[in-house]
Amino acid sequence: MDAPITQDVLTLPRKMPEGGKLNLVGLTRAQLAEALIAMGTPERQAKMRVGQIWQWIYHWGVQDFDAMTNLAKGYRAELAAHFEIARPEIVSRQVSEDGTRKYLLRIAGGHEVEAVYIPEESRGTLCISSQVGCSLTCSFCHTGTQKLVRNLTPAEIVGQVLVARDDLGEWPEPGAPRNETRLVSNVVLMGMGEPLYNFENVRDAMKVVMDGEGLSISRRRITLSTSGVVPEIARTAQEIGCLLAVSFHATTDEVRDKLVPINKRWNIKTLLDALREYPRLSNSERITFEYVMLKGVNDSDADARRLVKLIAGIPAKINLIPFNEWPGAPYERSDWARIEAFADIVHKAGYASPIRTPRGEDIMAACGQLKSATERGRASRAEIAAQAGL
Ligand code: SAH
Ligand code: SF4
Repeated sequence: MDAPITQDVLTLPRKMPEGGKLNLVGLTRAQLAEALIAMGTPERQAKMRVGQIWQWIYHWGVQDFDAMTNLAKGYRAELAAHFEIARPEIVSRQVSEDGTRKYLLRIAGGHEVEAVYIPEESRGTLCISSQVGCSLTCSFCHTGTQKLVRNLTPAEIVGQVLVARDDLGEWPEPGAPRNETRLVSNVVLMGMGEPLYNFENVRDAMKVVMDGEGLSISRRRITLSTSGVVPEIARTAQEIGCLLAVSFHATTDEVRDKLVPINKRWNIKTLLDALREYPRLSNSERITFEYVMLKGVNDSDADARRLVKLIAGIPAKINLIPFNEWPGAPYERSDWARIEAFADIVHKAGYASPIRTPRGEDIMAACGQLKSATERGRASRAEIAAQAGL
């Protein structure tokens, strides 16, 4: 029996952490105002204080209230007594031959997640995680072999961006001219987990990341990848407004059921109906269809032709992803000639069809290779079914 597809609600409540200090990272502006007022900041001052503190945390990257020099000394001391500005802890950092950096980060509860920085000529993309593990079981994905431990909090999601900027030395120097080429210029939610099964936290975190007074990464430079959680797609357009990528991977329900089991809940037709609405709702240009190339499984000319027929009318780009192997994976990567032939058919039908060059393979940082070694493996399917009372 297959693992049940359920939305596990395992987020830590937004509570005072051990030691009693609330982490200000990841709070929305309204939540930050609330926290400052609760500490005793007069209500009429709250908005201004939020603006000042926000800039210190997200524009200057400070981690210490004492560095907030436009606040009175006494007020800084009070802030330090009540709050902290905390990031996930870097357990290890691996740098690939191609410059890709993979961070293993420790978060509350001793859990670990990964974030990957991919430098390119004209941009730098940070791939971040939204959950520890994943409740879904896509058969080609390494993360899918690790069971869901919990959702990440907004602090932990935003924290991945802060950690990368710390490590890359990307915070501005006071007085120095603004650096226009940014190291972390783009963010993709393509790490561990299904972001649309942690919707509110991902949304709140992305609002912080987009905020023009802080990290200021525009919604058009953020891409959320989903395996196809149909009921949350319209909300993503309306409440986040970022670019959308979808893990499509197959052109018949029979094959997609096996590769992306959430397809049994929301099949290809239902998914495409939701996707057709996305560009209008989010006022964005096109959707990225991710398509992993698996030898002899989904890579024929007939598949390519079916794919372009299915997506007709949707403004789209098709990202062909050569399968990245992981120990024990039940698939092989399609041959290069096959991938190119597939790309050619898609391209001739009028769609951009870039073949994603695997990055960071030597450090297991490529798509679908992420899995934290410290977490227990997924329970067997029988165990999962038993736990769910099936
Ligand atoms: N859960 C989300 C986002 C994380 S996966 C989703 O599924 O979309 C990010 C991308 O990597 C997805 O397109 C996923 O299908 C792809 N991927 C997973 N395992 C892979 C592998 N072994 N090789 C290549 N791509 C893989
Ligand atoms: Fe989860 Fe995405 Fe991997 Fe599927 S591909 S198991 S949804 S992380």
